[in-house]
Amino acid sequence: MIPLKNSLQIAEMKKAGRITAEAMDAAIEAVREGISTYELDRIIRHHIERCGARPTFLGYGGFPGSACISINDEVIHGIPSRKKILREGDIVKIDVGAFYHGFTGDMARTIPVGQVAPEVLHLIEVTKHSFECGVEAFREGNRMGDIGYAIQSCVEAEGFSVVRKYIGHGVGHELHEDPEVPNFGTAGRGVKLQTGMTLAIEPMVNVGRPEVRELPDGWTVKTADGTLSAHYENSVALTPEGTVILTAVYD
Ligand code: MG
Repeated sequence: MIPLKNSLQIAEMKKAGRITAEAMDAAIEAVREGISTYELDRIIRHHIERCGARPTFLGYGGFPGSACISINDEVIHGIPSRKKILREGDIVKIDVGAFYHGFTGDMARTIPVGQVAPEVLHLIEVTKHSFECGVEAFREGNRMGDIGYAIQSCVEAEGFSVVRKYIGHGVGHELHEDPEVPNFGTAGRGVKLQTGMTLAIEPMVNVGRPEVRELPDGWTVKTADGTLSAHYENSVALTPEGTVILTAVYD
């Protein structure tokens, strides 16, 4: 069942989304050479708890951090660690959610550490753009396959690939709700998109092949071929006025 949200619920989700986005901003500001992913995680947890919210990821399925922090060829679900130190030229993916008043946000960004190669910046840009293409397709009258098709087309036009094994999802009271939101698909297929849907749209884009592998730590997912991967995500609502990004700070 797909839980649709009314305007009051969407207003509540914006509050959780705002805290999520503020925590992300604080972490992004702290990204620099020499900082550990543990320290970034601590900054995120501190902000979320200071707002009277709870880090949604902390303890989710046993996850030990408040955020998933993944470096370079790590795609998603990296575990924050004192031993993981950012280096100039790295890219770091931060994925975070804050649970507040019964709802959660979910968002991810890919941040360059210092100077990175132009082709790496291009990967980050294309990933963000593919998210925007997905949002563009999130409207009444379309189907889920239109979102996936839009994202996939945008990514593959640049010679990159979208991860198949992990996908976006509905978001609301739960971090993962129906429906599934694949970053690939066939236009015109899949569930009908409706006003009141709240989706975490989150392309994961690899420079090389789309295959991934899980590390023995039970969490970290890497590209199978060792190439770089980027991630971009927001929680997005479809309202009578169109799409609204929930994981944002509006003033
Ligand atoms: Mg997500």
